[in-house]
Amino acid sequence: MPSWKIHLIFDLIFVIVFASFLIKNVLINNIFLLIFLVFFNILATLFPDIDTPKSKIRKYISLTLALIFGGYLITNFSLKSIFSLVISSFLFYLIIRFFPTKHRGVTHTFLFGIILSIILTFVLWFLFEISLNQLGVSFLIILWGYLSHLILDKIT
Ligand SMILES: [Zn+2]
Repeated sequence: MPSWKIHLIFDLIFVIVFASFLIKNVLINNIFLLIFLVFFNILATLFPDIDTPKSKIRKYISLTLALIFGGYLITNFSLKSIFSLVISSFLFYLIIRFFPTKHRGVTHTFLFGIILSIILTFVLWFLFEISLNQLGVSFLIILWGYLSHLILDKIT
């Protein structure tokens, strides 16, 4: 299994070429859109390995979800004891982080990549008023992130 760094490098080599082409042809003229796009591309290229507890992406997503869960507990149940709040968030983290999942399963499929790319492109569309051209280009760049992961997994 190639490490997350190898996946990132393989992905970014092409993204840099794409991005400079897009900027040169004024297809993407909003720097914030570009930053989000690159961020979503990186998320897409690291996402498939969420199915293995050893991965960095699993670690960070578990942590983010545990923090959201903790925040939810604070706002909805007004847990008076900080201790029980910390314990429940930590347990939640451990379950998400180490729950056994089949590596190279559903998150390593083309279909899943398409679905995730559509969702992330939709978020971009929601955040920025982007044209149809930009929508298409954004979708392709995010999808590339995902596909680059699958390709690299296949050839290694
Ligand atoms: Zn993988």
